[in-house]
Amino acid sequence: MKSNLEILQQATTLLKRYKRPYIITHPRPDGDTIGSALALRLALLELGKEPLVVCVHPIPETMAYLPGTETVGDQVPAQEDIDLIVAVDMSDLKRTGGMVPGDWRDTKPILVIDHHETNDNFGDVNLVEAEAAATAMPMLALLKALGTSITPDIATCLLTAVLTDTRGLRTETTTPDVLRMVSELIEAGGDYATVVQNALDSTPYKQMRGWGIALNRLQLEGQVAWTTFPKEEKETLGIDDHDDLNLGNLLSQVAEAKVIASFLEMRNRTVKISLRARPGYNVAGVAKSLGGGGHRQAAGCSVQGSLTTATAKVLPLLHKLLETNS
Ligand code: 5GP
Ligand code: MN
Repeated sequence: MKSNLEILQQATTLLKRYKRPYIITHPRPDGDTIGSALALRLALLELGKEPLVVCVHPIPETMAYLPGTETVGDQVPAQEDIDLIVAVDMSDLKRTGGMVPGDWRDTKPILVIDHHETNDNFGDVNLVEAEAAATAMPMLALLKALGTSITPDIATCLLTAVLTDTRGLRTETTTPDVLRMVSELIEAGGDYATVVQNALDSTPYKQMRGWGIALNRLQLEGQVAWTTFPKEEKETLGIDDHDDLNLGNLLSQVAEAKVIASFLEMRNRTVKISLRARPGYNVAGVAKSLGGGGHRQAAGCSVQGSLTTATAKVLPLLHKLLETNS
């Protein structure tokens, strides 16, 4: 097993050797994948590289303030336009959302920067810190190892990443190290107020209306709270499939629940499931067993079929999880 220091060295060697890194964020991008990727982009620009950040889905409006969002592409570039693949905040190759064509896997090196305990180490170099609250933490260590300066813009990107993945420093993963990192980023000029205002305290009107519908359908069965969101309701409100309404985080507040699940029906006959758990409970295994992944307290997956099929499949697994936990 390699030490963290060795992996950091291998990661910096890759980033210094290649000129045109292709930085991939995960579908339905959150603050951690986008913030960490944009921070890396800025550092690589400082090194004279030509990085390209991509996401298969659009960047949410609430994150438009992040420096560099206007450069994020949604298309796979020509083979010759890139020489290194960098996957940010994702546990397996499938999570790139189809942004890595099959034959590239064998022709281009892959660097993975992540913090999911379900990570399957799909890169040639895997900078994966499973205990970290956000990918922003190994990312900051990497930028320091690269020797680039932590500019105010980089600090704002990383602050966004760590504050969103900890839901405003409220998760079990919020350690003294996380709080020190937040202080360090604010000292480096990170715009804390803007991050909190935009990334944590802004909910688009459409999403708020969606919450109304989801909350109307909320169920509490023992210590499992769950809701469904049918595609017809999306049509009525004009909600795209790549918008998950952040339902998982909303429902995670149900006081009586130890575990929560939201089921969003997609237009392609799949259901996107978000799972959340109170401290002491772990939903990562259930998500992984259904082909997804994530963390102890926040995980997700997609399953084929209707809402009824999905709830019938997943809810018993959650009840079983609670039984074995107690
Ligand atoms: P969310 O419920 O907010 O979509 O995701 C919660 C956590 O689970 C995030 O860390 C996210 O990356 C992970 N996750 C969500 N859906 C999937 C999935 O389909 N596959 C994998 N591997 N991880 C997922
Ligand atoms: Mn993350």
